[in-house]
Amino acid sequence: MNVHEYQAKELLAKFGVGIPAGIAALTVEEAVAAAKQLPGPLYVVKAQIHAGGRGKGKFKELPADAKGGVRLAKSIEEVEAFAKEMLGNTLVTVQTGEAGKQVNRLYVTDGVDIAKEYYLSMVVDRATSRVAMIVSTEGGMDIEEVAHSTPEKIATITIDPAEGFMPHHGRAVGYALQLTGDLNKQAGKIAEQLYNAFVALDCDMLEINPLVETKDGNLLVLDTKMSFDSNSLYRHPDVVALRDETEEDPAEIEASKYDLAYIKLDGNIGCMVNGAGLAMATMDIIKLNGEFPANFLDVGGGATTEKVTAAFKIILRDPAVKGILVNIFGGIMKCDIIAEGIVAAAKEVNLSVPLVVRLEGTNVQLGKDILANSGLPIVPANDLGDAAKKIVAEVRAVA
Ligand code: GDP
Ligand code: MG
Repeated sequence: MNVHEYQAKELLAKFGVGIPAGIAALTVEEAVAAAKQLPGPLYVVKAQIHAGGRGKGKFKELPADAKGGVRLAKSIEEVEAFAKEMLGNTLVTVQTGEAGKQVNRLYVTDGVDIAKEYYLSMVVDRATSRVAMIVSTEGGMDIEEVAHSTPEKIATITIDPAEGFMPHHGRAVGYALQLTGDLNKQAGKIAEQLYNAFVALDCDMLEINPLVETKDGNLLVLDTKMSFDSNSLYRHPDVVALRDETEEDPAEIEASKYDLAYIKLDGNIGCMVNGAGLAMATMDIIKLNGEFPANFLDVGGGATTEKVTAAFKIILRDPAVKGILVNIFGGIMKCDIIAEGIVAAAKEVNLSVPLVVRLEGTNVQLGKDILANSGLPIVPANDLGDAAKKIVAEVRAVA
């Protein structure tokens, strides 16, 4: 789950992290009122969408030379003019895709006099089973580009969860950022505060880009992206309350209600699979046969009729879907139970696209019999390769 920049900053502030003063606004009037509460004379009006690259982004409705989604305003009047231009319009950035995202919220902040921009992020590194802190002197820009052309400018510091954040980690951050004296001390402190926030909030990613050194010698978080491990949201009701569903794909929201892991993709073959590994393999083999999956969908271990029905409905919301491939391994859940679920669900949703089903596991023959005797035009498949070939042939026959 992701949150907006202003929400992430408010969370970080509770851990002592320095942030510029700012107020969120939903309307032009609120933006003006927000600016009036800030010291001025420089303000920043920032579009709040769940995507980065806003500064360099373009608004669909505005001329090509118009400013992007992060604008420096030198007066309250400018704040008002910028808020009018941004609210309700669609911002396209490198991270939004071509469709862009509608700007419904703004964050009006105190303008900071920047001396230098740095980069700091944290992720859970599965290879080391530790939190990796990634820091660079090259902040404010595309970190992927820095990693590609000047990888030596990026340092990674890993933190052992049993040991926690130690003073030597802080010194390593200060050193990597080439800071000395008081700024070096501040770097160690802010890194520790960010680590504490990351762990306490069960983040899976926290990116500060840029972390800035101000002209008066302070380190502040100027921009942040924060995402949370969805498996631990149950213990953070305050974080769940920050969810902005307008930023999320409606099908993905629906899927999360049924505890289905669903991600929309660009192809035309809907996939319903149990287990993430099998889902990945299924997507791969569809591509190998020359078509593309319309989604990733893991129905999980307990594939009940209710879940399978919800999964069919979610897959069929996507108008691009020309056929569905069900690939289920009946281990804990027996194949006959799954087959009954598939038949009931297919009848309930009045399935109108070809359906290929590959079942394997406990009671597989019983399951296959149920599908064959269902009276539905379900195409049975014997193995994964056979299933992929059959669904590809089916969607090509429809097209
Ligand atoms: P992003 O484009 O979505 O990453 O949004 P950021 O919040 O990172 O803003 C983009 C850039 O705008 C930053 O890298 C800064 O160079 C600039 N910027 C943002 N806020 C301020 C500010 O308070 N003062 C100044 N001078 N520049 C700012
Ligand atoms: Mg940024």
